[in-house]
Amino acid sequence: MTESDAHFETLAIRTQTPQTGEREHSTPMYLTSSFVFDDAEQARALFADEISGNIYTRYSNPTVDEFVKKMCLLEGAEDGIATASGMAAVFASMAGLLQAGDHILASRALFGSTHQILTKLFPKWGIRHTYVDTGTPDEWERAIEPTTKLVFVETPSNPGLELIDLEWLGGLCKRRQLRLVVDNCFATPYLQKPIPLGADLVVHSATKFLDGQGRTLGGVIVGRKDLVADIRFFARHTGPSLSPFNAWILSKSLETLAVRMERHCDNALRIAEHFANHSALEEVRYPFLANHPQQSIAKRQMRFGGGIVVLVVKGGLPRACRFLDSVQLLSHSPNLGDTRSIVTHPTSTTHSKLSEEDRQRVGIVPGLIRVSVGLEHVDDVIADLEQALERSE
Ligand SMILES: *Cc1c(COP(=O)(O)O)cnc(C)c1O
Repeated sequence: MTESDAHFETLAIRTQTPQTGEREHSTPMYLTSSFVFDDAEQARALFADEISGNIYTRYSNPTVDEFVKKMCLLEGAEDGIATASGMAAVFASMAGLLQAGDHILASRALFGSTHQILTKLFPKWGIRHTYVDTGTPDEWERAIEPTTKLVFVETPSNPGLELIDLEWLGGLCKRRQLRLVVDNCFATPYLQKPIPLGADLVVHSATKFLDGQGRTLGGVIVGRKDLVADIRFFARHTGPSLSPFNAWILSKSLETLAVRMERHCDNALRIAEHFANHSALEEVRYPFLANHPQQSIAKRQMRFGGGIVVLVVKGGLPRACRFLDSVQLLSHSPNLGDTRSIVTHPTSTTHSKLSEEDRQRVGIVPGLIRVSVGLEHVDDVIADLEQALERSE
């Protein structure tokens, strides 16, 4: 069996750093900051890029490489690098490719810190951006400027669950010679593979479903070899490297990604359907629910609907706060993609730095609760959400 015909689950489990003389079954952690040179000539050749090999863990490390290699195989990418957090991956994917005078086109519905990079940091270095709403294909084409170099999107978006047709956007980017970067954090490669659909790069917060157990921060960028080479140069010299310890956790986590995602998605769909017509809710949003305006896109480009369900409570902010204070089983925390189900209130936490108007434009209303559906028994999660809705009345 070759790598190319092995299935997702097999690649996620059997991609391993070569065994050492100890014949270990599970890959060891290479907790070392540097590597020893054989001789002066080898040291020179390694630094001159004449031969490849490990030098220093900021550049490469066998445990980190295993995680990256798996992610490349799972996403269908040529090459990749790992970073210390999802934001380090988002930032490096842009900063490693752009220069002063360049312009970024981005979906308006973005993770809070990605929004801060575009609006507060990049303008200091002369990199501008334009936001486009997801559901308006003509606007994307119109918003392209002569200096536009990169298109950055999140689909499904955090937390509004807005979708973008990746095949369509990939086609547009190819025609206009723009690099398409997709934050695939909510879907994971098990549910959605942006690269075969036309993306040049995929970035992840590995902190979320890739870890899946709320233990560690991490990030990864995979995609076109030439673009990854530029980002690797940026990362090698600016230092957002993933620790080998965290890489080991993440690589082990990928072994169970497929089974975990199936259960996350089953449970999330059950919850979305259960609460769809609930009298205490204004809206239930879930990509595979019939009322989702982009359900057909979701069904085309995603295997299942994902592990996140959005509930909008009637009664706005006061009721949302009472609801958060009423959950008993679920955790009230800013993370997502954990075995434990989590409720988050984006208006007052993850997206509090956005103006009220900016939040409204991406559907983040004061009553919106993001539910990251975990792997507890779904009936227990439903019961807790039910009692919290009742108590918050
Ligand atoms: C959490 C998240 C990030 C940032 O990841 P960190 O690991 O927290 O730095 C980026 N994008 C999306 C969609 C996220 O949910």
